[in-house]
Amino acid sequence: MYEAIIKTANDFGADVYEQFPLSKVTSFQTGGNADVLILPNSEEALQAMLSVCKQQGLRYHVIGNGSNLLVSDSGVRGVVFRIGAPMAKTEVLEDGKIRCEAGASLTALCNFAWKHGLSGLEFAYGIPGSAGGAAYMNAGAYGGEMRDVLLSCRHIAPDGTVGTFTGEDLQLDYRKSVYSGRDYIITELLLQLQPGDPEAIRAAMEDKMRRRKEKQPLEYPSAGSTFKRPVGYFAGALIEACGLKGLTVGGAQVSEKHAGFVINKGGATTADILELIRRVQETVYTEKGVQLQTEVLYIE
Ligand SMILES: Cc1cc2nc3c(=O)[nH]c(=O)nc-3n(C[C@H](O)[C@H](O)[C@H](O)COP(=O)(O)OP(=O)(O)OC[C@H]3O[C@@H](n4cnc5c(N)ncnc54)[C@H](O)[C@@H]3O)c2cc1C
Repeated sequence: MYEAIIKTANDFGADVYEQFPLSKVTSFQTGGNADVLILPNSEEALQAMLSVCKQQGLRYHVIGNGSNLLVSDSGVRGVVFRIGAPMAKTEVLEDGKIRCEAGASLTALCNFAWKHGLSGLEFAYGIPGSAGGAAYMNAGAYGGEMRDVLLSCRHIAPDGTVGTFTGEDLQLDYRKSVYSGRDYIITELLLQLQPGDPEAIRAAMEDKMRRRKEKQPLEYPSAGSTFKRPVGYFAGALIEACGLKGLTVGGAQVSEKHAGFVINKGGATTADILELIRRVQETVYTEKGVQLQTEVLYIE
């Protein structure tokens, strides 16, 4: 069933794995196997592989760094394209612009900007996603978000054509973009940064990282904030006020350090995490009348 897609991946020199445990590429470290995991190494390869998926009627999913994902314990049937290190070329253009492939890690991108004396991405330092995942999610922290710096994204559209969304067309909003819930694959980002003092940029980056380490349970696997911020509230504060810190289902726990994080305390399954999320949502709704929505995305 997968011969043709595996052959095409091989023809392009892209790494391919069969029955790959997705727990190895998700920050929650849970989830079953992908029938086939491919690490595309160019837009052209991706386009060719998508066309094979279409011809063969194969399902496919796209992931970046897996840092906002919950994968079913039964795994994912079909092909998973992981846009990562083999598509991470990053370059400085004129006037403070940076162009990067979608597989660049945000951390590497922040370091790249700092080394070139370009300011604007400091907020993102410590968000463990890929550039593509950050654009898809309009990732943000400490008063900044991708919307502040993202000029355009290049992508492969569901019909297989390469295109670009620029400015308003990106529809960047709280943890969503024009790409949310749609079958586009982001291949490249164009960012607009400003000249800045490298020392000040570095200091701001370190400050963000220090604040993360202080407040967040980074010693455990998680996907960051489990819930979106409800209008007028903070999810963590609501959860804490309901006395849910430390609530446990199997290996999943509402972090004692930060109630907005569900963590994998050890040996959690995705089912444990989903059940814990359900209990938190139910209690917060019953006690506070607020419906928490997950920020974390689920794939099966
Ligand atoms: C410890 C920790 C701290 C975090 N802190 C923050 C924070 O401060 N702010 C914040 O916003 N987030 C935070 N996150 C969540 C996460 O890092 C971000 O949402 C990040 O942007 C996800 O990027 P990713 O590459 O890991 O995407 P994934 O989790 O792999 O995927 C997320 C979604 O993006 C889609 N996607 C990914 N790449 C592409 C692509 N190339 N083309 C099309 N679709 C794509 C996937 O299909 C999926 O729907 C945190 C996570 C952790 C574990």
